[in-house]
Amino acid sequence: MSARHHKVYIIGSGPSGYTAGIYAGRANLSPYMAAGLQPGGQLTQTTDVENFPGYPEGIMGPEMMQQFEAQATRFGLEIAHKMVSEVDLTARPFKLVEDDGEAHTADAVIIATGATARYLGIPGEQEFLGRGVSACATCDGFFFRDQDVMVIGGGDSAMEEATFLTRFARKVYLVHRRDSFRASKVMQERALANEKIEVIWDSVATEVKGNFQGVNAVAIKNLKTGEAREVAVTGYFCAIGHTPNTSLFKGALDMDSVGYLQVKGRSTHTNIEGVFAAGDVADSTYRQAITAAGMGAAAAIDAERWLGEQGIE
Ligand code: NAP
Repeated sequence: MSARHHKVYIIGSGPSGYTAGIYAGRANLSPYMAAGLQPGGQLTQTTDVENFPGYPEGIMGPEMMQQFEAQATRFGLEIAHKMVSEVDLTARPFKLVEDDGEAHTADAVIIATGATARYLGIPGEQEFLGRGVSACATCDGFFFRDQDVMVIGGGDSAMEEATFLTRFARKVYLVHRRDSFRASKVMQERALANEKIEVIWDSVATEVKGNFQGVNAVAIKNLKTGEAREVAVTGYFCAIGHTPNTSLFKGALDMDSVGYLQVKGRSTHTNIEGVFAAGDVADSTYRQAITAAGMGAAAAIDAERWLGEQGIE
């Protein structure tokens, strides 16, 4: 069977992928998308999104992603609910094989595979996801006004999340497995100086507990003394880092030490001409739906211009 050819092949279906689809569709490029196993990406795991402009009353994450999808398909984006299992970016047109074995070729590829928040993998974490368990204080902190919450981690993310949460929460427990933070000095100092933050050193969370209303406690254990206890909280924020979804591109595309794709300057061009990256897969700093969407638009514009230079319109 011969491979199907596309001018623009988008991998991933979060805000960046769909926005790239809208722009590429409106540029008459007949874009095609492999949406992956979790269409809509990380936003399908959150509840209310209140910080995306245009939704003054807020919107549920999954519903917002359905609207992105509907808008993109209106402009001609073809969506396949499949994973890409192999890519060959060494020659043009690029080759992509999907998980059912179907082969495709593309003049330009936009990578919008996102990142996955890391969780500890303890009992209760997945069960209460979106019902007290979160990996994004910016997204969900607002819902914990005057409540007690817990943040896990000792890096910059944990400091940032804990400090941000003090705007709403009554008390923030910051649980770290060692007796010193790895976070930058300035961010540690800010967290340590905040009266609402209580650091629980040398400790790990062992279980997230709750009931039909959501989280109501987290079991923790002190690694030095062995002491186990429960802390009453309604929010549990895991801030132990994200993993960019880039295993498919190892060895082919430039990445930083953690695996985030590197783009050139303020553009979305990767080190391979015709391959563009947008959203969380290439951004460890902002990680917001709105910034990912903006980068998706930029990737489609970069792709359109680059294709024009190649005489492909
Ligand atoms: P990180 O620097 O890798 O820190 C992860 C933290 O989670 C560490 O303290 C680590 O503990 C802890 N951890 C990891 N696995 C764990 C486990 N299984 N159980 C318990 N604790 C665990 O990740 P990050 O904080 O997300 O930061 C990622 C990058 O983004 C960094 O380069 C950071 O500087 C940057 N960043 C910058 C800003 C900013 O400048 N505004 C904000 C956020 C992130 P150990 O220390 O014991 O290893």
